[in-house]
Amino acid sequence: MKSHTLSTLALSLVSLFSLASGSASAPPASPRPSVTCPNGELVESDRCCVWYDVLSDLQDLFDNSCGEDAHDALRLSFHDAIGYSPWLETQGQFGGDGADGSMIKFASTELEYHSNQGLASIVYEEMRIADNRSVSYGDMIQFAAAVSVRNCPGGPRLSFFAGRPNATQAAPDGLVPEPFHDVDTILARVLDAGLMPTELVALLASHSIGVQEHVDPSIENTPFDTTPGVFDTAFYKEVLRPGMHYPGKGPRDGNRTRSGEVPAPDTKPPIFRLQSDYALSRDPRTEEEWKVYSEPSTQLLMTARFAAAMARMALIGQDPVNLVDCSGVVP
Ligand code: CA
Ligand code: CA
Repeated sequence: MKSHTLSTLALSLVSLFSLASGSASAPPASPRPSVTCPNGELVESDRCCVWYDVLSDLQDLFDNSCGEDAHDALRLSFHDAIGYSPWLETQGQFGGDGADGSMIKFASTELEYHSNQGLASIVYEEMRIADNRSVSYGDMIQFAAAVSVRNCPGGPRLSFFAGRPNATQAAPDGLVPEPFHDVDTILARVLDAGLMPTELVALLASHSIGVQEHVDPSIENTPFDTTPGVFDTAFYKEVLRPGMHYPGKGPRDGNRTRSGEVPAPDTKPPIFRLQSDYALSRDPRTEEEWKVYSEPSTQLLMTARFAAAMARMALIGQDPVNLVDCSGVVP
């Protein structure tokens, strides 16, 4: 069952990558818009119409802006999807079903995991909207991420496929990379989930609009780059600058010796540097990709590769055959 799902996924993902990266190759055979929703919009399936209602609810939540809830929605999409480990399955354990909405369905379990600190608010907001509109939690999480990215200037338009069944079990703990993990650990984890190291670097464009909350709780909402309201290349460039100081109390405060923080450059506004970002930007396996994105001239390339990697991530553990393309609903 799993291997069938994986092979189907692999085939479909090749097509998705072509789509998202603007290749001239033909997109996967999907019907042209042929259904008119109550709001007059043309979509590919009547299963897409409800997403206009969800979009309206989400924009109320996000206040149509690139703010804290939007940042959290993007983070949540990664934490839900990366909960997928074929390796654990070979050990006779449940490895998670990836982008299955387990972060919401089994919120009381997964929100207790250390890696998921700070996600409770967005989890329960998305649960409320999904329940109200009768959509699956797995779909909800990936759609909210696509909307959140579009609310940020410079953010690309992501694809969105609907039809994920709800999760049947909580993902096991320990599958979400943490900022204090070394590069070997992080790359092994994302490879196990089916993502390439280069895709991880592209996904980290999310830190261009991200803030830290719990690594150093004394300086909540400190951004990872100087332009947290803009989806741009500043994050990659600024991580390459020499680190000078800690913007808050630093990792030697109390018991925070494994905080995952390293010194950041002196900037206005102050920025926060994650140890994992620093290490990935200087590792032979990922530094080349990192440097490509560190110039404003590569904005379009960066956003295209981010969109392609997000399309792959959003389908981890899912069988694309069961999904319908509702990308047209993404603003
Ligand atoms: Ca999950
Ligand atoms: Ca930015």
